[in-house]
Amino acid sequence: MDSCHSCGADPLIPAPDYSRLCRVTSDCKPWPSGGTFGLCQACGLVQTIVRPQWRDEIQQIYNGYTIYHQSGGIEQPVFANEGIGTARSEAIIRALLSHNALPPSGRLLDIGCGNGGFLRSWSRLLPGWQLLGSEVSDKYRDTVEAIPGVAQLFTCPIEEIPGSFDCISLVHVLEHIPQPRPFLDHLRARLNPDGVLLIEVPDCQRNPFMLTVADHCSHFSLNSLRTLACAAHWEICHAVNDWIPRELTLVARTAHDKPAAAPLSVDLEESKSVIDGIRELARIAQSVLTLADRRAFGLFGTSVAATWLDAQTQRRAAFFVDEDPKRLGHSHENRPILSPAQTPADTLVFMALPQPWASLVATRLSQQYPAPRWTVP
Ligand SMILES: [Zn+2]
Repeated sequence: MDSCHSCGADPLIPAPDYSRLCRVTSDCKPWPSGGTFGLCQACGLVQTIVRPQWRDEIQQIYNGYTIYHQSGGIEQPVFANEGIGTARSEAIIRALLSHNALPPSGRLLDIGCGNGGFLRSWSRLLPGWQLLGSEVSDKYRDTVEAIPGVAQLFTCPIEEIPGSFDCISLVHVLEHIPQPRPFLDHLRARLNPDGVLLIEVPDCQRNPFMLTVADHCSHFSLNSLRTLACAAHWEICHAVNDWIPRELTLVARTAHDKPAAAPLSVDLEESKSVIDGIRELARIAQSVLTLADRRAFGLFGTSVAATWLDAQTQRRAAFFVDEDPKRLGHSHENRPILSPAQTPADTLVFMALPQPWASLVATRLSQQYPAPRWTVP
């Protein structure tokens, strides 16, 4: 019997429709269907069931990982609806600063630092801090250690990294980690008094496309993320879904000098609405296939949603459209990435975005570029 990989409760409520969906990797490449999915009734966590097959799959995915390959390794911007992007890391750090969550100097450990996108923004905005990165491989060691303020990249287990920290950040990392509850619980001992933990994860309630990421084993909603942090004995300062579009941000401090907080009530209805995203995805793919027979079409986006929709519609898109200038001129899945201005007239472009963003962006693009048809599937 499969049990919850976070709290250990069993059994999980299965989501059998999931195994038919194509999947993608978190570095935006297609991945075959066949995932197993479930919901824990005890903690509300929607999860990929962690079995030996999943562990084999993630090993293969990480062995071939190429971060932000669509833009030559440069961090993806986050877009509001103006079509102008800001680096995601910078937006998170500016939000933390606006809430007075950070002193001007301290020691940061960025767990899962990748090629240093978050450390680079931190270095620019908080130059008084000493920065440390942690990663499973040293593929990007030279790049990360060249960032001003970075003292070292560690590839050892986290418990072997020396010292304590004023901030520990997990930016798009926690959703990859089996058994996140003990993982977060152990991190408390590594934080200085008044230090902060920062967690950034996809919002799977608002963005069902993220359910298709094969290497994510936890698919959080705001309630399930809060429940997890509380169960790992963190005192939550902020748990929000509006600092970064379609992402959840949680800021917490250690609760060691206080009595343990009362456990949060689990919102199973919210978790079930996350699972409902599987049906919504199947509907979106079917809608594209129905309309796609009429004329040539493209997909708006080059990240998880567009990569998944392309795979699920048998790679029939003729091109991709993206507003990130760093991606233009590159190709994605062997087809060109066009700007909205380059998109041919008389084509359909399907918005690979969840609602309401799909409609907002389609409306804006229809006004700016009326010749193609910007369509919400
Ligand atoms: Zn659970």
